[in-house]
Amino acid sequence: MNIINPATEEIIATIQEDNQASLALKFERLQTSAKQWAAVPIQKRAEILEKFVTLLKENMEELASILTSEMGKPLQQSRNEINGAGGKAIWLAQHATQYLSEEIMSVSDQMTEKIVHEPLGIICNISAWNYPYNVGVNIFVPALLAGNAVMYKPSEYATLTGLQIGKYLVEAGVPADVFQVAIGEGDVGRALLDMPFDGYYFTGSYQTGQKIYEHVSKKMVPCILELGGKDPVYVADDVVDVAGAAAGIADGAFYNNGQSCCSVERIYVQSAIYDAFVEAFVAEVRSWKMGSPTEDGVYITVLSRSAQLAILENQVADALTKGAQVLVGGKRVDRKGNYFEPTVLVNVTHDMAVMREESFGPIIGIMRVENDAEAVALMNDTSYGLTAGVYSAGQQRAEVILAQINAGSGYWNCCDRVSAALPWSGRGHSGFGSTLSQVGLRNFTKPKAYHLRK
Ligand code: NAD
Repeated sequence: MNIINPATEEIIATIQEDNQASLALKFERLQTSAKQWAAVPIQKRAEILEKFVTLLKENMEELASILTSEMGKPLQQSRNEINGAGGKAIWLAQHATQYLSEEIMSVSDQMTEKIVHEPLGIICNISAWNYPYNVGVNIFVPALLAGNAVMYKPSEYATLTGLQIGKYLVEAGVPADVFQVAIGEGDVGRALLDMPFDGYYFTGSYQTGQKIYEHVSKKMVPCILELGGKDPVYVADDVVDVAGAAAGIADGAFYNNGQSCCSVERIYVQSAIYDAFVEAFVAEVRSWKMGSPTEDGVYITVLSRSAQLAILENQVADALTKGAQVLVGGKRVDRKGNYFEPTVLVNVTHDMAVMREESFGPIIGIMRVENDAEAVALMNDTSYGLTAGVYSAGQQRAEVILAQINAGSGYWNCCDRVSAALPWSGRGHSGFGSTLSQVGLRNFTKPKAYHLRK
């Protein structure tokens, strides 16, 4: 398999993909080591995962450079990602003992009742490329903390990073057999679905997630799907700092070139401040530097996959045909690499693909609304349900709106944000099941209820 730098279009590495036989061998190694890892005390497992984070930080420059070279995000954003993922891993490690230890629920003269959180066994994690550290850490860190062995399949667009993750987990003290990296494209992912894993944890697109769920449902093992989104933000007319809100939301829409599951993908602005908001938003977008991912100060760089360029072009063409107006950008850039101009569209409607289908790129539609009720109806007019944001001077106003939105996360005066302490979950086509928080730690265990009569 060739690894191609999306900015230079050069082959930067060629590596051997897995096949049925090599996957079977890796599975055997997981099988032989799983029980031994489950027997390691939680505190020791947590220490090892904390050491992993230390190693990531010690090797930050090399790791950031590898990540940028294979998926194209600005180098500084690669560093930010490693730092962010490290912070989440530390939170999970530091809370593992609290949430994964056995719990005594009641004690009486006759009877003790307790819960033991047993590991599932051997889990399979098929992962995405847009934040390989961030989304990987949500899965393999709690899985290992809970005492599971892990088959980790990085995306074919983040393979070198996946191999580095494996290397540093082992260097930190995870036994080599307990964490196996499966190398390859979709066919390798498909092969994993036929193997007898004790749980499937997938991060990726709705289309692939649906296939995976269909396939593994017969196995009757846990399956968690973290899928795409079409995340809305509503800016209410009582916002005091309109320019500040515009700058924050623009970052939420375009960070990582818009390739985030929780990127802002739709913006609704109340009439009274609409013009001021759009003006400030456009000024912010125009202020960004576009260039090669390794250049200092760049914010917009290449998309990871060339195929996404055509999707963005089609969304712009569809919107223009139906009456939208491009205020900034609108087309691919005539240079080597998968560059697309940061694009702002207005006069958009929900008849347009740009307001309905995940764009996963540097493009956004802004729509005028009259009141909160209209905003709520439009925000809910989607098959996805990952996050939703409200910018308003009033917390109560925002919470009343957020309570009506069918999404796993609600943001007031912020967006595009993940916290290790809070569950991360989608609804509808954004998937189901949670990672992160105590919910996410326990999702890698099966509870056993002990009824102990004296
Ligand atoms: P993708 O679905 O194309 O691929 C994801 C993984 O699945 C890859 O490792 C791929 O090799 C594998 N795969 C492909 N076909 C398969 C099959 N038939 N069976 C088994 N495995 C298969 O997604 P992607 O392009 O890597 O990631 C982008 C998508 O992920 C976006 O939709 C984004 O929103 C979503 N995402 C969601 C979250 C979240 O937390 N909800 C986080 C990051 C990304």
